[in-house]
Amino acid sequence: MTFEEKLQEYARLTVRTCGNVTQGKYVLLSCPVHAAHFGRMISRKAFEAGAKDVIMLYYDEKFSRIRFLNAALDIFKSVPEWQALQRNYYAREGCVSITVLSEDPDIFEGVDDEKLMANAIARKKAFKEFYDIMDKGGLRWTLVAYPCEKWAMKVFPECSKETAMEKLWDAIFATCRLTDTNTSGKWESQDRLLKRRADILNKYALKELHYKNSLGTDFTLGLAKGHIWAGGSEVSTDDVKFMPNMPTEEIFTMPDRLKAEGIVYASMPLSYQGTLIDGFYLRFQNGEVVDFDAQKGKNALTRLLDTDEGSRRLGEAALIPHDSPISNLGILFYNTLFDENASCHLALGECYATNIRNGVNMSEKELLDNGGNRSVNHVDFMIGTKDLQITGTTKEGTKVPIFVNGNFVF
Ligand code: ZN
Ligand code: ZN
Repeated sequence: MTFEEKLQEYARLTVRTCGNVTQGKYVLLSCPVHAAHFGRMISRKAFEAGAKDVIMLYYDEKFSRIRFLNAALDIFKSVPEWQALQRNYYAREGCVSITVLSEDPDIFEGVDDEKLMANAIARKKAFKEFYDIMDKGGLRWTLVAYPCEKWAMKVFPECSKETAMEKLWDAIFATCRLTDTNTSGKWESQDRLLKRRADILNKYALKELHYKNSLGTDFTLGLAKGHIWAGGSEVSTDDVKFMPNMPTEEIFTMPDRLKAEGIVYASMPLSYQGTLIDGFYLRFQNGEVVDFDAQKGKNALTRLLDTDEGSRRLGEAALIPHDSPISNLGILFYNTLFDENASCHLALGECYATNIRNGVNMSEKELLDNGGNRSVNHVDFMIGTKDLQITGTTKEGTKVPIFVNGNFVF
């Protein structure tokens, strides 16, 4: 396939398999300005799939940087009402939300932390209705990636701009299994594999997981009562399958925010709000981070942990085999969509209501009572290694091997 053919197939996959645009839907499309060509491709295919309308939300992170450097802190403490109205309106209408990510990992270097945090909190509040509907499956959504030069140069610093862009495209196409035209078929079988593994773990209904590896991780994580392992496709409330993340390799569930003990070492650097946090560990007691250190980016890690109460507790535990397409490339993408799918991870902050039985119908209090976590953050960090051992414990106390030498035993 030529590059243009691959791009067309990528757009088709985004619209059909990922967002699964169907007849009469609004499509809310967030797209970086430099990817306008791809955005137009997606919108054309969305109309072909029957979309009623496509609402194009172009964004430009280079402009965002200028704004963060120049506008006053107060500006970032709220989101203009018209912006919230727009997003929340289309969510109520049951739109399909497609986001094309293209992030320079260093874009916010030197920007005032307080502004970044205020902005994150304000957006979360303003778009609460949108996110609530999304969490409850009331809209279909998906995230796909598109390279930009700064990102490519970060991943391949030894290359020229052109070569770095080419290599990043190749890596994205490879991880999205875009090597021929049967891409949807490949994702259907990947989806079946993820579902099979999730089913096995759901039948075990484990009480806790124990992680151990040579980095020094020795960590016991309690799982929420009634937790559900999920992965791959999801089904919206109108009974249509969609794929929230492309690519995806993980199955994930809800830990009990009060039950984490021991020490866990990150196995990959974490890119958080434009800062790289590397060589770090977190020590947990009763589910809370009580001690931590980082060789690099300790300030950013401190800021993350201090955002709110829930940022010191866990909202997600995900399992990914060490032997998988993203991991096998051996590239650090500096982007969560890829890096979180390279390795087993945990997330500090917000849990997913869908990861617990009847969670989407629970009140905030019920969710908390069942071990769920609430935070404005949801930040994944990688802990998987090729020697990671994970053992589960059932309610009866039986030990069940889950991972041996970095990979699933089933
Ligand atoms: Zn995850
Ligand atoms: Zn996550």
